Amino acid sequence: LTRLYGPLTALSNVRVDVMSALVSFERVFEVLDLQPSIAEPANAKPVPPGTGRIEFRDVRFRYPSAAEVSLASLEDVATLDRTVGEEVLRGVSFTVHPGQMVALVGPSGAGKSTTAMLLPRVYDVTGGVVLVGDIDVREASLQSLRDTIGVVSQDSHLFHETIVENLRYARPDATDGEIWAALDRAQVGELVRGLPDGLDTVVGERGYRFSGGEKQRIAIARLLLKAPSIVIMDEATAHLDSESEAAVQKALAEALSGRTALVIAHRLSTVRDADLILVLDDGRIVERGTHEDLVARSGLYGELYRTQFADSPSERAQDPAVDR
Ligand code: ADP
Ligand code: MG
Repeated sequence: LTRLYGPLTALSNVRVDVMSALVSFERVFEVLDLQPSIAEPANAKPVPPGTGRIEFRDVRFRYPSAAEVSLASLEDVATLDRTVGEEVLRGVSFTVHPGQMVALVGPSGAGKSTTAMLLPRVYDVTGGVVLVGDIDVREASLQSLRDTIGVVSQDSHLFHETIVENLRYARPDATDGEIWAALDRAQVGELVRGLPDGLDTVVGERGYRFSGGEKQRIAIARLLLKAPSIVIMDEATAHLDSESEAAVQKALAEALSGRTALVIAHRLSTVRDADLILVLDDGRIVERGTHEDLVARSGLYGELYRTQFADSPSERAQDPAVDR
């Protein structure tokens, strides 16, 4: 693929990566962790370990057009899109300070996932700059960028390999003791201990079929081993069964603890806890502030709060996580 796309890399801002257009972005993040497909910049700057600051400065982005991804099959192109050529981020600026949790909220199609994708360079900006620490991500060494940023989603990708192999991608030199500690913190140690093959259990269709929540917790264990200082989390998609819900919540709390977090938030509990909420609409940040600030205004957030977050008062009474 890289070979075929070689000539196109001349188009400076085009991230020619058909896979990323076709695969859910969470998977791309995770797969990119393992299979670097973007080139190391010349004079790459290492992101210092522990870096937690993120800054988006007047970021603009449009997806590569179908012509630019000319080698995709016609069928692929058809799925590529309706927004080709149009800017989907139109001047997005914000700063996340080390240790903060910033929530991205807004209607579907507003640009939340796209914003998150620019940080680990699934795509590159077409205007403005994304900084990690004080380094433009396009100038950062890829290894250091990947070591710094971890991704958690509800659509976690595990390879059709053993549990221990899946986890060692995050840290090849991890000892079994460290692996068990990570599985325990991710609330899945007990389950793995109970399996006949333990850490050598093969994950997947022809192996042990873990539930969505179990897979997610194994992916969180992998993230804990990697110990990134920045975490991107997308709360969307899968609806977990309530039995695994509490365990997943505990595991997620471990994943976020002590890190800088950019969260695409669908749960009121997350939004409430955020140090800063960015309300995106049509590629722009239309409001920003804390939950209290924003509910006090009669803007888009107030509207979202009343419809999306608060449309189920009885559930809300038991649990603030109303998005299910
Ligand atoms: P959100 O996460 O807020 O729902 P997205 O960032 O996924 O929004 O999408 C923002 C805009 O970009 C939408 O108009 C969407 O259709 C478009 N878009 C998303 N992914 C692609 C892609 N791979 N190619 C072209 N356009 C895309
Ligand atoms: Mg999205």
